[in-house]
Amino acid sequence: MKKLSTTAVLMLVSVASSVVIGQEARGQGPPRSRTKLVMLGTGNPSPNPDRFGPATVVLVDNVPYLVDCGVGVVRRWAAAIRANKLPSRPLDLKMAFITHLHTDHTLGFAELIFTPWTNVPANSPEAVRPLEVFGPPGLGAMTRNLLAAYADDIRIRTSEGGSRALSGSPGPIVNSHEVAAGEIYHDDRVTVTAFRVPHGNWEHAYGFRFRTPDKTIVISGDTAYTSEIGRQCNGCDLLVHEGGFNEEGAYFRTSHTNAEELARVAAEARPRQLILYHQRGANEEGVRIIRSKFAGPVIVAADLQVFE
Ligand SMILES: [Zn+2]
Ligand SMILES: [Zn+2]
Repeated sequence: MKKLSTTAVLMLVSVASSVVIGQEARGQGPPRSRTKLVMLGTGNPSPNPDRFGPATVVLVDNVPYLVDCGVGVVRRWAAAIRANKLPSRPLDLKMAFITHLHTDHTLGFAELIFTPWTNVPANSPEAVRPLEVFGPPGLGAMTRNLLAAYADDIRIRTSEGGSRALSGSPGPIVNSHEVAAGEIYHDDRVTVTAFRVPHGNWEHAYGFRFRTPDKTIVISGDTAYTSEIGRQCNGCDLLVHEGGFNEEGAYFRTSHTNAEELARVAAEARPRQLILYHQRGANEEGVRIIRSKFAGPVIVAADLQVFE
């Protein structure tokens, strides 16, 4: 496991909820998948009320691994839990992987830091469980700057008379890990690999591959066409890919993937299911173009949708 510069950003306490591991006692019946993919936000920078900012959970044995934190991420996770009756808790997002630092993928980062911190009991064990965030160079500075921006909130909540003024109550604990491409994280449930993708002028933009006990899932992040997606997926179970619609202009061409290019990606990657996110609408035309070159299922994901 490779880790480049680990920036441990400490402010005083709190947050999280303990992770619920495999507590669902299942009865007889067909074995259920240990891995679910939960779409929290399937939108892009436009303020579409039906599509929140990019955020996806890979849920393994009911432990959530979050990819990107678009706007509304924690409330979207709470909504997905309720809508799909997931045996998870809204404050349990403690592992996050950031593809790149564009605002639409990070506007919910402050929410991810502060909403759980503000809501778990200040004297509970989960109040001192850190948020672990992995992402490109610049993530450490973003973390420090967000904590600095809310320094007054932390001070007032943790001081006498504040909502978290119990003895020894610190501010949120965030460990941000700036990573290079390669295997960036490993535990009993997942191995996470970051790979570089071309995204306009961003020097560091990643896609991620999650290998779990029963699934391989590739999430493209924001990317122009790249053969790297085909190499990383290579017959994977779920390929979650951005774009697939056509837009004019140099920015789109160098930053995103149009429908014809996505058809090529799908043919090279051969996923069992191709899931489109980072969308702006129903994208019927894009799906038609992709299906003309790719025989597998092509699904335009909706917010809160779950794939197994
Ligand atoms: Zn984006
Ligand atoms: Zn972007």
